[in-house]
Amino acid sequence: MAKDYYEILGVSKDAKPDDVKKAYRRLARKWHPDLNPGNREAEQRFKDASAAYECLSNPEKRKIYDEFGEDGLRAGFDPGKAREYRKWTQGHGPEAEPSFGRYRSYEDIFGNMFDFSKAGDYSARRSRKGSDIETGMTIDLISSLKGVSTRIAIEKPEVCGDCKGAGVRTAAGAALCPACRGTGKISVADGPMEFTRTCPQCRGTGRTIAVCAGCGGSGQQSKTEKIRVDIPAGVREGSRVRVAGKGESGPGIQTPGDLYLIIHIEPHPFLKREDDDLLMEAPVTLAEIMAGAKIVIPTIDGPVTLKIPPQSQNGQTLRLKGKGAVNPKTKKRGDFLVRLQVRVPKTKDEKTLQAVKEMDRLYGEDPRAGLEL
Ligand SMILES: [Zn+2]
Ligand SMILES: [Zn+2]
Repeated sequence: MAKDYYEILGVSKDAKPDDVKKAYRRLARKWHPDLNPGNREAEQRFKDASAAYECLSNPEKRKIYDEFGEDGLRAGFDPGKAREYRKWTQGHGPEAEPSFGRYRSYEDIFGNMFDFSKAGDYSARRSRKGSDIETGMTIDLISSLKGVSTRIAIEKPEVCGDCKGAGVRTAAGAALCPACRGTGKISVADGPMEFTRTCPQCRGTGRTIAVCAGCGGSGQQSKTEKIRVDIPAGVREGSRVRVAGKGESGPGIQTPGDLYLIIHIEPHPFLKREDDDLLMEAPVTLAEIMAGAKIVIPTIDGPVTLKIPPQSQNGQTLRLKGKGAVNPKTKKRGDFLVRLQVRVPKTKDEKTLQAVKEMDRLYGEDPRAGLEL
């Protein structure tokens, strides 16, 4: 029950009719839309107070409201049946009646009681939003940086199409249900009143039923679906990418759930992401690092020429501004950092070794001077 009429009017449960009227008049004067033009809260309060007064000022309605709450005020509500039904369920207890398993709440049972036109129509009760599905997805670092559009196959539960989620099926030419003799309804009597409800044995179908072979009775089937997904540029390890409407779906589900892809990124041999910066180790020659050079670096935007200043050092990092990863939130880009790594030729060639030894003299000072523990 969403609203308590007594609370709305600010009166006690045993308030006299006169007090109810007074309380309503006070609220109506305060919240009347003519006195509060354009005030939505006032409008709602006025409506609530009017609904509460309409119910509590009528002795019959008030009695039903006290006993059954707002449910009792619905069209078609039969207090006699409801009382009998309640008595009956209390006597038996829901757990003593295994066929109640499909009903989750008192409201479900009421809904079924007063709407026999839907008996046997299980899809009606399954008209709901499908649940969300979460699944992992592994992509390589470059795809995560550039964004990728791809097709993936996912296993997802669907309402069983064979039985529409009921979990049971009626075979063609099946015999009449012995419990209800084919009517789909059974009479329940306890005390002076008698009322009917959906036959639990055949679930209202009137025929003998069998567990659905398609789903083994669960009402759900697992289906593989190929879907197209767009992974936005800049996703990070562990990002959740939402694919709207690709969650649980099927017959009886009005709004399908969503699919969430948990992104896992495979490491790259040369490229590393640190926050929104990208880091690459670039092999260079001794001449390039000493004399300076222009070298070409592959970036996610294509090849970029990088200028190495003369007298650079091994391990020094040069920065290509704005060539890093896209920040998924701000859409700003980090930098691309290039760390210079001198590659020494692997050779036993006498001439080369001679040249390098000659270079040693050019160091001028001991490179390990001051290296002490
Ligand atoms: Zn039956
Ligand atoms: Zn099934």
